[in-house]
Amino acid sequence: MPRPIHAYLDLNAIANNLHVAKRATRARVMAVIKADAYGHGLLRVVEAMAEADGLALLDIQDAIHLREAGYTQAILLLEGYFSEEDLPLIAEYELSCVIHNEQQLAMLDAYPKRETLDVWVKINTGMNRLGFVPAVVGSVMERLRAHQAVRDITLMTHFANADEERGVGEQLEVFNDLASRYRVARSLANSAALLRYPKTHGDWVRPGIMLYGASPFADKTAQELRLRPAMSLRSRIIAIQMLEAGDEVGYGAKFKADRKMRIGIVACGYADGYPRHAPNGTPILVAGQVTRTVGRVSMDMLCVDLSGVMQADVGSEVVLWGEGLPVEQVAQAAGTISYELLCGLTKRVPVRF
Ligand SMILES: *Cc1c(COP(=O)(O)O)cnc(C)c1O
Repeated sequence: MPRPIHAYLDLNAIANNLHVAKRATRARVMAVIKADAYGHGLLRVVEAMAEADGLALLDIQDAIHLREAGYTQAILLLEGYFSEEDLPLIAEYELSCVIHNEQQLAMLDAYPKRETLDVWVKINTGMNRLGFVPAVVGSVMERLRAHQAVRDITLMTHFANADEERGVGEQLEVFNDLASRYRVARSLANSAALLRYPKTHGDWVRPGIMLYGASPFADKTAQELRLRPAMSLRSRIIAIQMLEAGDEVGYGAKFKADRKMRIGIVACGYADGYPRHAPNGTPILVAGQVTRTVGRVSMDMLCVDLSGVMQADVGSEVVLWGEGLPVEQVAQAAGTISYELLCGLTKRVPVRF
């Protein structure tokens, strides 16, 4: 028997979440599947993404795999290309690509082929990560429109605060001011903007996290948004310890019992992708009941308080996150975000359906 840990993938949940996205907008939906579909496995989830109008990712090899697997809708390379050698592949496999800097424009100039590329020009509207500053967008557009290899242009930007109080106002204004000068398609919205700001929808929305069933907002749960978790990280209790008052638990003795208590040892640790920084008290589900972690998370194991979970024993099922315990709650307790936990699932964890 293998170790009891596994990630259970609910592909129906992904299809459901995609429907939630589609119902919320009239724009076309570009499902974001970067980082191996947020840790869910690229080729595993594409089937559930069949209703999307396109897929967005980073790695050209992944894009080529999708084409070779028969995917025919749009595929967008979110960081564009990294070398001139990518350009003929982008044309051959009919990939759309972001252009966000001068170096990419120069590579494009050196590429002689005619009428083959769909480019998404990324505008830096305030996030200051990728994109052309507003002042140069006019000349970039002129160069691209005159370029023989460019068939179609979409204007895009990315929001820094769509999930925060501050919202999208300032960036949206900068973007709309520029985009209104051109008759091209527009793309702005991540999950948070898609759900909260219909004015940002444009022609293509780009949801990621919501498709995997996590809420992009701190003040609204996935359930309230009708999203269902796609990944449940599950394991079992493999040992029980009886503590006396004063007994300590795990590396660094980070937990000390103040009374007699029963704890369970779970086959899951940071080498599986569970956050090592999860403190005492991080929520965890044992035999269907919410309890808390105790002590430091180690490489292959972590410990849980079984005080209120009388029926728990060796073999009892544990849900680290997913169905019954939103990954956002675990992330918040551990000082991180759902994205990082989902992407951080490690290779050694087997995936089941
Ligand atoms: C990751 C990403 C998205 C998706 O963001 P979510 O918050 O996961 O919805 C959209 N657009 C771009 C450019 C991205 O990099």
